[in-house]
Amino acid sequence: MKAAILHAAHEPMTIEIVELDGPRPEEVRIRVAASGLCHSDYHIISGDLGSAFPIVLGHEASGIVEAVGSDVRGLAPGDRVATCSSIFCGHCGDCQDGHNHLCSDKPLRAAPDPSSPIRQKGEVVHQFCNIGGFAEELIVHRSAVSKLPEGMPLDIAALMGCAVLTGIGSVTEGAGVKPGSTVVVLGCGGVGLNVVQGARLAGAAQIIAVDLNPAKRALAQTFGATDVVEGGEGAVERVLELTKGGADYAFEVVGSTAVQRQACMMLRKRGTLMLVGLPKSGSDFSAPALLIITRELRVVGSLMGSVPFQRVIPQYAQLYLDGRLTLDPLISHRIKLKDINTGYEQLIAGETARSVITFDL
Ligand SMILES: [Zn+2]
Ligand SMILES: [Zn+2]
Repeated sequence: MKAAILHAAHEPMTIEIVELDGPRPEEVRIRVAASGLCHSDYHIISGDLGSAFPIVLGHEASGIVEAVGSDVRGLAPGDRVATCSSIFCGHCGDCQDGHNHLCSDKPLRAAPDPSSPIRQKGEVVHQFCNIGGFAEELIVHRSAVSKLPEGMPLDIAALMGCAVLTGIGSVTEGAGVKPGSTVVVLGCGGVGLNVVQGARLAGAAQIIAVDLNPAKRALAQTFGATDVVEGGEGAVERVLELTKGGADYAFEVVGSTAVQRQACMMLRKRGTLMLVGLPKSGSDFSAPALLIITRELRVVGSLMGSVPFQRVIPQYAQLYLDGRLTLDPLISHRIKLKDINTGYEQLIAGETARSVITFDL
């Protein structure tokens, strides 16, 4: 089967033939229907996050189950599924507390196998986020899979396990936004648009979308933004004006220290800054400490929407099928695997909300 392989940072990916080893007893083999291009993969391409090579990137995929291991219950060949990188054990303290996205004992393949079922001429090819979605097929742990309701389109479903989950979950579970609140969202890519949508679902009264790109600001209005503000210089002042003194919540979805600082300045007293966007590894959070203390601000992080994804993905899918969740405009481009490098160029140029690779099944 074909996969896009990254041999080193700063190089284009190449489409090559690889084999899969498995499924092992707790694993599921999936024929990929669609796979989203996310900024997190780009951190490996750009070298901002370290990685082992060669590697198959891609961590938001959907598809059809081809085979299940002997210990897998509740899934069968033919099932339509979405994947999520938050694999979990189910029995550690964090899982028992209901926070399986923070699992302390992730069920990785045992050493010396470096947790990847992908092989090329017998040599290991690494699998990004335990998924490796930029391939025609993949093998994942059963805890990386969520079954979809009947009728859920697979290209839309590919975005459920990352952009949709991370965005909506950070609002509803991470921040616990209350009805009537004021919310500012800084960065309106695939995740940010879902933060906007999450705020709408949570009943926020005012949702201000901030982005440098006018097309993304316009898209944010489709997802529920009540006001839009151009990012950069002057954004803080404008948000303070619009909110008459500051927002209850500011979501930073860029992963930039400068934007994190701005987000902090946009809050009212006792407001909450939610850090959602992944920064470069090694980058520090910096904000005016005196402001945080004297205004009693809270700074909180949210990983993968802070939700148990296997329970939540079918719920979100049902909301979409009921017409209550906006997901179609998230996909700006449908591309083929061979066009993956161009897809990333467009993502980095800010031209796309989300590109999705679709495969012929
Ligand atoms: Zn992602
Ligand atoms: Zn666990």
